[in-house]
Amino acid sequence: MFKGILVEKGDDKAYTASIQDIDESQLPEGEVTVKVQYSTLNYKDALAITGAGPVVRSFPMVPGIDVVGVVETSESERFKAGDTVLLNGWGVGEVHWGGMAQKARFPAKWLVPLPEGITPEQSMAIGTAGYTAMLCVMALEKHGVTPDKGEIIVTGAAGGVGSVAIALLSKLGYQVAGSTGRPEEEDYLKKLGCNEIIDRNTLSEKGRPLARERWAGAVDTVGSHTLANVCAATKYRGVVTACGLAQGMDFPATVAPFILRGVSLVGIDSVYCPMEERLEAWNRLAKDLDFDKLNLISSKVVGLSETIELAKKQLEGQIRGRVIVDVNK
Ligand code: NDP
Repeated sequence: MFKGILVEKGDDKAYTASIQDIDESQLPEGEVTVKVQYSTLNYKDALAITGAGPVVRSFPMVPGIDVVGVVETSESERFKAGDTVLLNGWGVGEVHWGGMAQKARFPAKWLVPLPEGITPEQSMAIGTAGYTAMLCVMALEKHGVTPDKGEIIVTGAAGGVGSVAIALLSKLGYQVAGSTGRPEEEDYLKKLGCNEIIDRNTLSEKGRPLARERWAGAVDTVGSHTLANVCAATKYRGVVTACGLAQGMDFPATVAPFILRGVSLVGIDSVYCPMEERLEAWNRLAKDLDFDKLNLISSKVVGLSETIELAKKQLEGQIRGRVIVDVNK
């Protein structure tokens, strides 16, 4: 038996999340059984735990889209007992049991060996949020946005993706503006490497199809009017990476920035991102993330019961940076 969070759906369709003793025979299919060390609380996990969004598609579900742990048994040649592995996405915590339990089982093809230079705890401080931030930065680079091209705007700056994106961009030499609804986090954002703080209210309402050209690139975690306004203020041939929907899933924009300024909008998906790109992202994180800044982003380690309590706060945008979940605490 092992302990884990189980999300269940009642007859009234309401979700309940509770800590339960789970029998190992209930673990899903997969070649690799992992003794989980840590998971982390992402926006999507908060949706799964509270039921605020239809993230979970099979019940009961162990939430946790991120996992790190030690291989207990492996039927795959890629991994052996004792290896430390991590996993982000692939539908875990949605359709396949995830990381918020002391044991997990996965197909070997989903697992990434923990990169050298990153501890298990740090890997979850980074988590899907940090790995997605890295994918956004890699996309800006691949589309030719170098630091000399000008400022990058990061929206949802004080959130998990935003915080890691700022730390990465700043270390790589970019000038970074962070848009936030939390002016009290100015000091934190400046320590991460923000050169300028923007009040998110200036971006969250319907704007003009084109605005003054300002950004060479963007990491948008917010969607909706914010994304439309960011595109409208992106410079000629600039690049906007879109990965989130914290404001909304809608995109009330015009094509003007794309057809008149050659702006590119690049979609970022971390869940089914091919393995080669994942390995590149994790190796880049080991090299390009300032781990002192990671301590600022994620100093909070909580147990499973506190995770359930924190899920609501996460959805209310009340959590700064990232929360690590120690499943054995
Ligand atoms: P967090 O909850 O940590 O951060 C989200 C941030 O968005 C908040 O901190 C807040 O930033 C801002 N925000 C919240 N509500 C609003 C609003 N109504 N209007 C404008 N800004 C708002 O989440 P994550 O950083 O983990 O994830 C951010 C987004 O990216 C989510 O939508 C998530 O689902 C998505 N995501 C997508 C992935 C992918 O593969 N495409 C992977 C990971 C995440 P502030 O307080 O600074 O204003």
